[in-house]
Amino acid sequence: MDENRARLRDKKRIVVKIGSSSLTHEETGEVNLIKLEKLVRELCDLRNRGIQVVLVSSGAIAVGARTLGLSERPQQTALKQACASVGQARLMMIYQRLFAEYNCIASQILMTKNTMLNAINRENAQNTFEKLLGLGVIPIVNENDTISTYELSQLQQFGDNDTLSAVVTAMIGADLLILLSDIEGLYTDDPRLNPEACFIDKVERLDEEIMRLGKGAGTRAGTGGMATKLSCARIATASGADMIIADGGDVGIIHRLMDGEERGTLFLAAREEHFDLEKYLM
Ligand code: GLU
Repeated sequence: MDENRARLRDKKRIVVKIGSSSLTHEETGEVNLIKLEKLVRELCDLRNRGIQVVLVSSGAIAVGARTLGLSERPQQTALKQACASVGQARLMMIYQRLFAEYNCIASQILMTKNTMLNAINRENAQNTFEKLLGLGVIPIVNENDTISTYELSQLQQFGDNDTLSAVVTAMIGADLLILLSDIEGLYTDDPRLNPEACFIDKVERLDEEIMRLGKGAGTRAGTGGMATKLSCARIATASGADMIIADGGDVGIIHRLMDGEERGTLFLAAREEHFDLEKYLM
């Protein structure tokens, strides 16, 4: 087994991000309950192994839109906020029930970019995470869409949960970030358009050549593309964490990755000596 993969078995604090398109059925937009249940079981089992786990879950807007009977993802800010408000509560209700079945305590943390830019707020968030993880709780994080989308400037909004999960990883000093996506990982080209595209299973250095491979691959339910995922890798690896992009089609991939199986693209940690999260938020 590759030694970098083998090292994944020793991770102590991990962040798992799951996107809206992985949480909902493509055909109907309804919540995929079986998948959600499996995801929760995977995370509880990690906790039972003694690993501290944070879940970054999207889906507030998608679930809210479905609940309110909208056929499309809303574009208008106020409608997005309304959907997020309905959907976040509903999503948490489902999560709470599922986590309780495995005797796990889950909590909710809603974040905004503004609070991350403010040193006092950031410290508060950090302390809360620290306390929750110490208590064996699994925090479920999302962007506070009802507030963040209010601010029109991109500068004041994470906008996608890939970036949010990388920021959380850096802020809490996690040693691994797993981004569950609708693609297996990084390719030399977009495999949906180019059948010759080759899979890259490990990235040791995020040089210009790698960064150029990021092509926007949006889906109906989610927002982050490959370019976004590569900039997340910048944040996570510079903070000292490994990062993996893996196909969230089967969430059982989480324990397989943690057992060292060679799946997805692994970006190796390259800790910056004077890592400054704020620099990456600008
Ligand atoms: N925060 C948004 C939601 O929960 C999702 C952002 C994203 O798709 O990354 O609906």
